[in-house]
Amino acid sequence: MQKLTTRLADGREILWFDEPGRAPRDPAALVDQRDMPPVEPASELRYDALLGEWVTIAAHRQNRTYKPPADQCPLCPSRDGRHTEVPAPDYDVVAFENRFPSFGSAPGAPPPAVTGDDPVAAAGRCEVVCFTSDHTTPFARLSPERVRLVLEVWAERTAELGARPGVRYVFPFENRGADIGVTLAHPHGQIYAYPYVPPFPQRMLAQVAAHREATGENLFDSLLTAERAGERVVAAGEHWTAFVPTAARWPVEVHLYPHRPTPDLPALDEAQRAEFGLIYLDVLRRLDALYDDELPYVAAWQQAPVREADGRFDARLHLRVHSIRRAPGKIKYLAGSEAGAGAFISDVLPEAAAARLRDLGPGAADGGVGRGGMPGGTSPEPGR
Ligand SMILES: [Zn+2]
Repeated sequence: MQKLTTRLADGREILWFDEPGRAPRDPAALVDQRDMPPVEPASELRYDALLGEWVTIAAHRQNRTYKPPADQCPLCPSRDGRHTEVPAPDYDVVAFENRFPSFGSAPGAPPPAVTGDDPVAAAGRCEVVCFTSDHTTPFARLSPERVRLVLEVWAERTAELGARPGVRYVFPFENRGADIGVTLAHPHGQIYAYPYVPPFPQRMLAQVAAHREATGENLFDSLLTAERAGERVVAAGEHWTAFVPTAARWPVEVHLYPHRPTPDLPALDEAQRAEFGLIYLDVLRRLDALYDDELPYVAAWQQAPVREADGRFDARLHLRVHSIRRAPGKIKYLAGSEAGAGAFISDVLPEAAAARLRDLGPGAADGGVGRGGMPGGTSPEPGR
């Protein structure tokens, strides 16, 4: 992997990651020609004392770019006199500071000094990661080599962002599809470097700590061992297993774990990195074959917090992919029980979901046996 860092017209950093073998880039050829006003992020963290959670108030995000037409995509390369966020006619993978960040300091400003335990919004950072310069190639159709490069970028960003003062949790994720709320169609993900540990990992790590106290064992490891021997495995290799979890809360939900206990992305070894793309692409193609359509999903990396004191020792890296689509044309909305009480009610039996995904083997998305294998009539969940 080759890496080069330059700046955009408003001072934001952009990082260029190229596959091995590409000729080194000349920074002089990567000048952003746009005339842009400076970004002034004005995020504020407020504490919800009743739920014990931090809430980020980022009112400046109301003005962010919303569903532009493809010929005005800000994530495509700059070509034919049109200037985008990526000032080059082509790229492999780029990461850059979000112009509309949820938190973080002004571009070019050093991270703030952080004293004490209360998080400081300016200490966080939000980056956009473009997986390919091709507007129409979703992650599921990237080459294994490109997925490997994206994985290297996630690991590199985790290490670098995690070393910044005040950052406590690095969270790479991808939102895919308008149904999920994606406002830019170009294949991309994001990385949030939080100045606190978000509620999900915090709750998981509290459970894991209690389990270690009671049994001496790591709960992640125990669950993975049980799942690998169980009936909900979707795909598996020598180093990774993908399964539908026993208490899946979403109509489509797959977790992908490395077999060797691994705290975070930088800790992945060569064998794990080499196999990840094969298993993940297999899973994504099964998901797209489910409804014979590009499945809207959220793919979220869970990994160790930066600090030992936040439970780093017991954390285990894994990827969680879920979709809100419960049938063709039907969305699982978070309504009364889920949004109002925080209690999930799932319409889908996890074992049936796993069996369905297993049947949609490699090739299904290309017109193989499983194509369209989820017509309404055979849906395990009743239409409503
Ligand atoms: Zn684009």
